[in-house]
Amino acid sequence: MSQHKRILFAGDPHGNFKPLISAVLNNKPEAVVLLGDYDLDEPLENYLAEIADLTQVWWIAGNHDFETPSKYNNLFNSALSHRNLHLKVTEIAGLRIAGLSGVFLGRVWYPPQEPKWLGKEHFLLNQPPHVQQTELSLKYKSAIWHDEFEAFKSLKADVLVTHEAPGSHRHGFRAISDLGAAMGVKQIFHGHLHENYATIIKNKIKVCGVANTAVSDLLGQRVI
Ligand SMILES: [Zn+2]
Repeated sequence: MSQHKRILFAGDPHGNFKPLISAVLNNKPEAVVLLGDYDLDEPLENYLAEIADLTQVWWIAGNHDFETPSKYNNLFNSALSHRNLHLKVTEIAGLRIAGLSGVFLGRVWYPPQEPKWLGKEHFLLNQPPHVQQTELSLKYKSAIWHDEFEAFKSLKADVLVTHEAPGSHRHGFRAISDLGAAMGVKQIFHGHLHENYATIIKNKIKVCGVANTAVSDLLGQRVI
């Protein structure tokens, strides 16, 4: 196994895990990191049974994973629920990997605009009495929340994986670039926009967009 293939990054599967499975069988990586948008009709582990003993599977969630209760449960209550990288830095195959799930939502925070709500507590405490909620709806769970994002910035990592794109992409957000810079990362991998590309942004951070069902190695080269 070559060094740069010890971790592979998988772009939005949208129900098709075959390319990822082939990539693992061919390259035998220590770990794979899934970048969100799975569209799961069954628990995640059912799709990945063939590679379960061959590699570690880690993941962040995309906007599609919050669309229905079943898609949500098939991910967040799967046998791989403990491999969720969101808002954490996790050492994987010798690299510190930081994960950020979800998307920016106008009703929560859509940078560079100011956040509508400082955080989940602030939102829940300010609902009118007749819609008093104790838990967030799935839509709100899919949002990137400003207070969590700011706290996450203080952690250090080598690689940042996100569903949303940084400012390097025309549909991306400078806030994600700033997050990577603050964390001191050397690389950012993202999904969501269904486009393969690689570019360098400020602080010499290399950004790799990974297209739907594509699989990339640590150099940003497609292995499938
Ligand atoms: Zn998406």
